[in-house]
Amino acid sequence: MNRSLWRGEEAITSRKSVSSNNSFDIAIIGGGFSGLWSAYHLKKIQPSLTIAIFEQNYVGFGASGRNGGWASAEYPTSSTRLIKEHGLQIYQNLRRDLTQSIDEIGQIARSNKWQIDYAKGGALVFATNKAQLTRISSEIDDEHRFLNQGQAQELLNVANIKGGVFTPHCAALNPFKLTQEIATYLESVGVEIFENSRVEQISDKQIEVNGHTITCQTSIRATEAFTSQKWSANQQIPIYSLMVATEPLSADVLSQIKNTQRATFQEACHLITYAQITGDNRLAIGGRGVRYKLFSRLSGRSEIDNRMHNALQRRALSWFPQLQGTKFPYRWGGPVALTRRWQCYLNYDPKTGQAAIGGYVGDGVTLSYLVAKNLALKINNLKTSDLPFIDQKIGTWEPEPIRYFAINAGFKATVAADIEEKITQHPSLIAAVIDPLINR
Ligand SMILES: Cc1cc2nc3c(=O)[nH]c(=O)nc-3n(C[C@H](O)[C@H](O)[C@H](O)COP(=O)(O)OP(=O)(O)OC[C@H]3O[C@@H](n4cnc5c(N)ncnc54)[C@H](O)[C@@H]3O)c2cc1C
Repeated sequence: MNRSLWRGEEAITSRKSVSSNNSFDIAIIGGGFSGLWSAYHLKKIQPSLTIAIFEQNYVGFGASGRNGGWASAEYPTSSTRLIKEHGLQIYQNLRRDLTQSIDEIGQIARSNKWQIDYAKGGALVFATNKAQLTRISSEIDDEHRFLNQGQAQELLNVANIKGGVFTPHCAALNPFKLTQEIATYLESVGVEIFENSRVEQISDKQIEVNGHTITCQTSIRATEAFTSQKWSANQQIPIYSLMVATEPLSADVLSQIKNTQRATFQEACHLITYAQITGDNRLAIGGRGVRYKLFSRLSGRSEIDNRMHNALQRRALSWFPQLQGTKFPYRWGGPVALTRRWQCYLNYDPKTGQAAIGGYVGDGVTLSYLVAKNLALKINNLKTSDLPFIDQKIGTWEPEPIRYFAINAGFKATVAADIEEKITQHPSLIAAVIDPLINR
């Protein structure tokens, strides 16, 4: 059963769905962070705007309600490529705005008394072998500091930890609660939210929902990995990320694990893993590796993969042997959108009134806030910062089945690179070959 920890046990009461034609200044498609934050920023700039959000299921149904809860300053494109393609100034603007956005989310939550279990404890990438340590040691910059074995273990008591890299720029939070709090706030300032309302068509200044026509000055497509292929023309594909979570941990186990500041953490593997200790004292851990489906098919089956979920549990036990015997009652997953050049996007055409944002790969918790904020500025004809995602071409994926074979071979090579490092204790040669091909 696909049961996200964040959503909890309570049944969801649906909001109204679209049942007649209507008209709004702004029509937003998608009730995840991108859609919700777009409405939030637009209302802040121009409170008189009439705004409606159309969500095919319920608010927080997508990745926004199911993710790892890292409000990080991570960005999908590598810094080397960003600097090469956009220059140092734009790269620095991005770093500044991303790190500030983490604090802004925290401030908005605090000032509105949102209960989202926000804790800005930073993020730790730790090494469990010499090869990982060599790699992460070379990634130190002014946002990251190196921790030797003792310092890293003092922060997080992982078995076999060899050292780590720490950044203060990350907060742990409960993402589903955040979606619900933003939605409730938006309704209190007059935004209309329609659920069970699937948008079938987007054209200039109008959309079609549940067989009804909604006219608008501007439409914002914020549908991320769920974007219909007819709208994205092979520009983005869904990749699944899966998670498990434990029962609440005892005070004794928690004190052995340490991490009282709730830093988020991950092992420096090539195949991505990520974890946090939740506000209610559980370990929630996730990772990638589910096979990509031919023709970018979304599949509920990809969200529950026993092999992957069991591997995540084993990984948790290898980090924290004291979890032996602990139950993992929650297993779930969801899709993230991967663009060919690992580039997220903000496109807005004032002539047609059509806008689209997304493509965050797995880094959308903070990034969607920043992208939506800049979209709101653009729609209101206000100056935005110079940032690498504004009005950029994101490229298209290779045709099938080349795409299918290449992506799944990439996953296999990534797993092999981690095994290679464990055996040789040297940075992987396989990774050195595939990294340039991935074109990050
Ligand atoms: C398991 C997992 C772990 C992750 N961990 C992290 C993390 O720790 N940190 C991080 O930064 N990022 C993480 N991510 C990525 C992050 O969750 C996403 O980048 C972010 O939530 C995207 O927000 P969104 O609003 O753009 O998309 P979504 O939240 O996917 O929202 C899109 C919404 O659009 C709706 N929709 C689609 N089509 C239509 C239509 N035709 N009509 C109406 N509605 C429609 C969908 O139902 C959905 O609710 C993770 C993702 C997953 C799946």
